[in-house]
This record gives sequence, C-alpha cells and structure tokens, in this order.
Amino acid sequence: MTRKVLNFCAGPAMLPEAVMLRAREEFMDWQGTGMSVMEISHRSDEFKSIADHSEQTLRELLSIPDNYHVLFLAGGATQQFSVIPMNLKQDKTSADYINTGIWSAKAMKEAKPYIEVNQVCSGESSGFTSIPDKKDWLLNPESAYCYYTANETISGLEFHFIPEVEVPLVTDMTSSILSRPINVSDFGVIFAGAQKNIGPAGLTVVIVDDTLLNEALPFTPGLLNYRIQANERSLLNTPPTFNWYMAGLMFDWLKEQGGLEEMQRRNERKATMLYELIDTSGFYQNKIDKSCRSIMNVFTLNDENLNEVFLSEAKANGLYYLKGHRLAGGMRASLYNAMPESGVRQLAEFMREFEQTHS
Ligand code: PMP
Repeated sequence: MTRKVLNFCAGPAMLPEAVMLRAREEFMDWQGTGMSVMEISHRSDEFKSIADHSEQTLRELLSIPDNYHVLFLAGGATQQFSVIPMNLKQDKTSADYINTGIWSAKAMKEAKPYIEVNQVCSGESSGFTSIPDKKDWLLNPESAYCYYTANETISGLEFHFIPEVEVPLVTDMTSSILSRPINVSDFGVIFAGAQKNIGPAGLTVVIVDDTLLNEALPFTPGLLNYRIQANERSLLNTPPTFNWYMAGLMFDWLKEQGGLEEMQRRNERKATMLYELIDTSGFYQNKIDKSCRSIMNVFTLNDENLNEVFLSEAKANGLYYLKGHRLAGGMRASLYNAMPESGVRQLAEFMREFEQTHS
C-alpha cells in the first residue's frame, strides 16, 4: 500500500489501490484511442466493448445463468425501492417484506404507493439485533414477491441464509454483493448500489430473472422499466459510462484475487479479527445476535463519552471514517473487499491500545 489512509467508510468506500492505479494509467488515453473513457460515446464500439467486458466478468464472478439479465442503471439503490414494485406488481395485490432494520423500512415506505406491503416479520422487538424466527414469518403465497435486505449496513446485521419462499425472492445486496459466492438462481431480482463493493457511487447493478421482465405498471418511466432496459442493454439513455468502466476494473481485480471464494475467506478472517477482539473485551461491545452478525459492517459501541476521542486518535493513526451512521451512533468499521487484512489488523491493534489507555 502506498496510500497512507485506511478508509473504513460504509460507502462510498475505499477502492483497491491496483484498480485506482489502472484507472489513472488509462485515464487520459484508453487503450490507444487518445480519449478518456469519459469522452467516449456510449454508442461507440469502444464503449460497447467496455460494457460487454464488465458484464461478462460479473457474470463469471457470480456464475449468473443465461436466463438472467444484468442491468447497469443510474439512480442509486434507493430508486430500486420503488422500481421493484413498479416492475413486479403485475396483477397481484401485495408484496412480502422482511423487516430487519433501517434499509428494509425505507424500502417498505417507498414501495407503499405502488403495492400493499405485507410485513412478514419485524426485528423491532429485539431492537433489530436479530432476524425473527422463521416459524413466525407470515408469508403470503399470493404475494408478487418477497423482499429482504441481505445486509443491514447501518446496524451490521446480515443474513447468513437464503429465505425460502414460494414467490420470487428480491434482495437488496448493496452492502454485501461480491463478498462471497451466491447462487443467483435462488433469486428473482438482486440489486446493489455500486459504492461499496462495485465501484464509484452513481451506478446500480440489477440482476433480474427473465421471467420477471413483464409489463410494468403503466406509468413506469422507460428508464425504470426493467424489460425496456433489458432490451436496450441498459443504453436507453446516456448511462454512467465511467462508473460502468470502473465496475469492470473492480470485477477484473476480483478475478485476479481469486474470485469470490477467496473474497469470502478474506472477509471472514477480517470480521473474525474484530469480533473476537470485541467479544473478549469488556470495553467494546456488539449487540447483534451472533448468528446474523455482518461480515461487511462490524459495529462496535464503546462508552459514548469516548466517541470523539476514539475518532480523533484513530484519525491520527490513519484510520478514517469509523463513526457509526447518524441514525445508529457508536462506531462502525466497514470491511468491504478493498479493505486489506493488514488494514483490519492495524485497526485491531489501535483498538487494543485505545482500550489499555482509556479503560
Ligand atoms: N440499501 C443499503 C443496504 C444501503 O447500505 C444503502 C446505502 N448505504 C442503500 C440501500 C441506499 O443506496 P443509495 O444511496 O445508492 O440510494
């Protein structure tokens, strides 16, 4: 690492140094064209090769079957909260939502104007520290789809199992996509904002089962219509071309690193390093049930009065953006793919020293 700062931000998150260096190398002159990717028409053969390469590499990484389309859209993950019901409602009345925290709640709120929201279960009684027992879920087999948030970025709660449902399963994987292998065929729709494990903010990847590319609600704008975007290869209008290219560089890097099995091994080691430290100390704590602790966002609470001094001492040690989300407080370390194990080791050392000095 030549960069001096370790960025633990939940997103936009740090990108691998090798990706940044390659982007810099190609910045002014992409593959001898004499132009930056930013200056190339989205209708050109050059951009088509960039777009095809990004999609192909993502397909390889996630073993995406041929009967799924991959869309590269603008608008962020939040936009998908309403786009999902617009595209999947069909002639159904309601959709099932598993409520595990702030991002599920936001998705439910945004869906309500378009579809009746059936809250299958809510983690509220546990303060959203656990996933309600499956035997208490009120699933409706007549629902248009069942929606869940694979990783609640704000509280650090992650599903380590795939919900078994009879209707198409929709998941917000914004903060956990590409952190480990998944079986895409388990899902109807997977979507993810790019700014954590895919690349710079501004791009949203949607992986959708072709059988769900039906008529959208009549008022759905073309740009938000999955079927139209699938037919147009996400090029209905000018897409975020540079971000699409950057995503491709990230996917190349992931492949070079050994793919998603290797990412899973590294990510588990990184998270374990911090959770072991937290669990064996009386100084730090994590309230999330051990069965659903996030591998990506490790949340630690210490004495609230020490928050500011923790953050300023961490920053002095090159450890940035450890402040928890404004709605949750406390501290949070986000350990996406680009965060090296050596970076987490540095954080763990700092936490140990901080505990010794301040307890
Ligand atoms: N879902 C999850 C799980 C997230 O973590 C975030 C952003 N942190 C979003 C949705 C919203 O993403 P965006 O800002 O791209 O709309």
